[in-house]
Amino acid sequence: MSYEYIKFGPEEKEFISKIEEISGQNIYSCYQCGKCSAGCAFSSRMDKTVNQIIHFIQMGQKDKVLQANTHWICSSCLTCSIRCPREIDVAALMEAVREYILREEPEKVKIADLPKEVIEKLPNIALVGNFRKMTG
Ligand code: SF4
Ligand code: SF4
Repeated sequence: MSYEYIKFGPEEKEFISKIEEISGQNIYSCYQCGKCSAGCAFSSRMDKTVNQIIHFIQMGQKDKVLQANTHWICSSCLTCSIRCPREIDVAALMEAVREYILREEPEKVKIADLPKEVIEKLPNIALVGNFRKMTG
């Protein structure tokens, strides 16, 4: 893999390879053109753009990825995946980040413990991602 040529430590390599494995995408195919972010209808709600998240993954910057709200705001509409000139399934990468977090923290979202008013405010995809993890 291409990250072998960069002096990443084991934790960074584990993070990058896990995201690639879950998503089935080569993260280094991205050349940061920004077309995915430009076409995303939810960019204004995201604290980091989609291509910024991809860049963080490329650099093994797990903390920056996990701190962002981008992958939770993503609605899996696939617009970015269709627009990408490198044919990267960007939506699958966002899903992979959600899956990665929920595999590390399966109790991150305990639906039964959440008050009704909180559930009503949560991004739908946060709940969907959590249920996918629990059922898949
Ligand atoms: S559109 Fe594709 S190549 Fe361009 S920044 Fe997004 S993922 Fe990378
Ligand atoms: S799949 Fe997610 S990141 Fe991609 S355009 Fe749709 S909402 Fe934005």
